[in-house]
Amino acid sequence: MQMLNSINNLKVAKYFKLSEFACPCCNLVMLHPNLLAKLVELRNTLEKPVYITSGYRCPKYNRQIGGVVNSYHRIGLAADIKVKDINLITLLEVCENIDFAGIGLYEKKNFLHLDVRPTKRIRWRE
Ligand SMILES: [Zn+2]
Ligand SMILES: [Zn+2]
Repeated sequence: MQMLNSINNLKVAKYFKLSEFACPCCNLVMLHPNLLAKLVELRNTLEKPVYITSGYRCPKYNRQIGGVVNSYHRIGLAADIKVKDINLITLLEVCENIDFAGIGLYEKKNFLHLDVRPTKRIRWRE
């Protein structure tokens, strides 16, 4: 069905489409407004495109990629991001200032995990 090509093809903010946060296997999506607000703040601070490499994950996809069972990606509170032409540590510092509740630094794979979990702040690196 051709109509499905445009599923989630709508802007949720000036620089973000809902489809960018959708599960790659089924197009289902959950996106918390607090996560989006912080990503918008990040985009505006950097003045560079922020690529969402993983947003919402359905249970099946989360299992497939070996995500943790109660991942915040499962409930629309987390996104993994990449930004071109910026040092990962510099990017991390900007994200610290925006005060994401969870920040994971993945040095080898060159991305950051960001989330707005309701529990206390957590930082990790791999
Ligand atoms: Zn899926
Ligand atoms: Zn993640």
